Amino acid sequence: MQHSKIVGGSTAKRVLNCPGSVALVAQMPPQAENKFMADGTALHSAVDLLVNDGDASAYSLLGKTFNGVVLDEDHCEKLKTALALLDEVDPLEQMTFNTETRVGFGDLLPGVFGSTDLIGRIANRAIVLDWKFGDGVAVTAEQNEQLMFYAAAAMRTPSAAWAFDGATEIECVIVQPPMVRRWVTTPERIRQFERDLVQAVKQSSLPDARLMAGDHCRFCTAKPICPEMTGAADRAIAVKIDNLDKNLISDYLKNADLLETWITSLRELALSMLESGARLPDYKLVAKRAIRQWTDEDKAKVALFALGLKESEVLETSVISPAKAEKALKKRKIALPVDVVVAVSSGNTLASVDDPRPEVLLLGKQLARLFKLQ
Ligand code: SF4
Repeated sequence: MQHSKIVGGSTAKRVLNCPGSVALVAQMPPQAENKFMADGTALHSAVDLLVNDGDASAYSLLGKTFNGVVLDEDHCEKLKTALALLDEVDPLEQMTFNTETRVGFGDLLPGVFGSTDLIGRIANRAIVLDWKFGDGVAVTAEQNEQLMFYAAAAMRTPSAAWAFDGATEIECVIVQPPMVRRWVTTPERIRQFERDLVQAVKQSSLPDARLMAGDHCRFCTAKPICPEMTGAADRAIAVKIDNLDKNLISDYLKNADLLETWITSLRELALSMLESGARLPDYKLVAKRAIRQWTDEDKAKVALFALGLKESEVLETSVISPAKAEKALKKRKIALPVDVVVAVSSGNTLASVDDPRPEVLLLGKQLARLFKLQ
């Protein structure tokens, strides 16, 4: 799929918040497709096929190849759930829709375009829908810049504008199995979004375009060379951790979250540069630690027995993990029995206050502190 070099749906949030990122991203090599991206592209193609062929079932695609990915049962289950969630959006099958439509802003913003997963219309409501098949980050529909980008661009695209013509509501929908998230807004909100986008794109062409770090940096490929990030790194290195107050430590943790994504991106970039033959001072490619393995397990067993080792010394048996058992049972459509499994945490970890996991209660320590205070 072709992407806009200035801003598209998936980069709208970044460019709105950080117009200076456009010039920096343009200096970076194209991002190599990883397994998760390949999976996502395959599932998008598969769900598009299913939506346009009302008779095909998700499991009819089992074993079929999309974008080089052979669909397995997990993929088919996701597709099946996605279709069921689409039924929630259009329970009476009233929707007129188009899929995979290229939309753009024409002369208003030359070179700014994107591709919508699905644009539809039910009565006075226009619908913009995006499939998300990643499990990592839950994507919200409310004020979602990607969906507002598609709505605004579609309103200016002759082949897509029909869905918005005379509509009084615009519904933004994220279908991310097992959830569907929906947000209804107005054409005026989308026009306001478009005005903000025009300002950001104009900003982005200035030599001193604003750079601003935030959660939109997550997928920015310019992190390794971004002054906001490298500045944050310099500041963090200069920090002395003695006598820091609690608020300051929280601020540094937010900085650390940004730095972690920056470090990951920097390592990925350096690795892909070295793998493509570039030289980096002080660094080189080496093979990962080699782990010895038997060239032929049966021959190894014979050799070890011949050397006098007993069967109990040579062979190990252990029960498969609950995760592997659950996967094996799922194929037989059987649930893992709950009374044979216990979840044991390997320890505590840091999380921000809005993390959905419950806070660990250290009752002993908290009570001891309470008594000390009295
Ligand atoms: S890493 Fe963040 S601050 Fe830097 S260019 Fe990208 S979006 Fe902007």
